[in-house]
Amino acid sequence: MSSIKDLYQQVIFDHYRRPHNFHEIPGADHSAEGHNPLCGDRVKLELSLENDVVKEVGFLGDGCAITTASASMMTDIIKGKTISQVEELFQHFHRMVSSSPGESATWPSDLGKLTVLAGVREFPARVKCATLPWRTLFAALRQGDETSTAE
Ligand code: ZN
Repeated sequence: MSSIKDLYQQVIFDHYRRPHNFHEIPGADHSAEGHNPLCGDRVKLELSLENDVVKEVGFLGDGCAITTASASMMTDIIKGKTISQVEELFQHFHRMVSSSPGESATWPSDLGKLTVLAGVREFPARVKCATLPWRTLFAALRQGDETSTAE
């Protein structure tokens, strides 16, 4: 049991030390900045879409291990996906990190390696760290989308 936990922590730590897609996107058509005052995390998301598909995505900023690993894995997994696939993925991810620790640990397969972040559900304060990159992503997607500015 503890070796599985160690493995998960190792994956998170590896993404924290060497985050994927940690760079600007030249000519990005969507961007947003997110801040988690509880922890001090700051993330900037940049992406470009082609039709409804995420073509390029990168992030910058200064976050804790959970935020940085979450942003690193999120940017990996959403590349090439449609906006509606990304929205569905976030619903699954959010359900996972906000479920109660005693709940069955069977997650939808589309989450892939994002399931290493399931451990944050034991630390409610860390859930905001894990979801910050996603919230920033959706803020970026809303920006420049005239159909969603009327909410
Ligand atoms: Zn944090």
